[in-house]
Amino acid sequence: MLYQKERELIVKFCNLMVSRSLTKGTGGNISIRCDGGRIAISPSGVDYAAMSAADVVIVDFDGATVDGNLLPSSETQMHLGCYRKRPDIGAVVHTHSTFATVLACMRLELKPIHYLIGYAGKTVPCIDYYPFGSMELAEAAGDAMKKGNAVLLGNHGLLAAGRDIDYAFSTAEETEFVCELYYRTLLLGGGTLLDEEQMEDVARRFERYGQKQRKEDL
Ligand code: 13P
Ligand code: ZN
Repeated sequence: MLYQKERELIVKFCNLMVSRSLTKGTGGNISIRCDGGRIAISPSGVDYAAMSAADVVIVDFDGATVDGNLLPSSETQMHLGCYRKRPDIGAVVHTHSTFATVLACMRLELKPIHYLIGYAGKTVPCIDYYPFGSMELAEAAGDAMKKGNAVLLGNHGLLAAGRDIDYAFSTAEETEFVCELYYRTLLLGGGTLLDEEQMEDVARRFERYGQKQRKEDL
């Protein structure tokens, strides 16, 4: 089977998306960039608990199926838009997580209320509503993804990306957490936002975060 490793990762992270409460039902979708100008993407409308590696679809950059028996995600063009506009992106995760979707329904941009927004950038923009699966949504989401690693999709959900699937998934999970914090602090009258300089410092610390060589304090 072509791209076995990527197919297995899609199944693993789709199930993680459900177990971490980042989506409901068959909502959301995940893709990974493969070599040779192709992506592996979750099939459309398939129950995650029943999904197997063979169900994952391989498509080229025109969206044509290269391998797989099922139809690819209805948001394939949205994923491809991100890869086209950001050559550094290796994986894309789309969720309907609750607090990100609340902000998206309020058409609120996510502000830097907590340093973990750093996975996504300094802020997370919110785009207008476009029908799911539409080219308009793909265009607008891809354009917004040029500014950072996450986008709130108006009246729909969250789109997150990263250099690999681990990072893209963390972006989705941590952005959802920060959306919840933002929502709750707004209810209390609004929290103190981090400023430009503090967020630049966060970005530098992120570069050295984790199991990387570190000479001094983060
Ligand atoms: P798919 O099941 O076709 O991937 O669609 C789910 C979704 O979230 C549409 O925006
Ligand atoms: Zn969706």
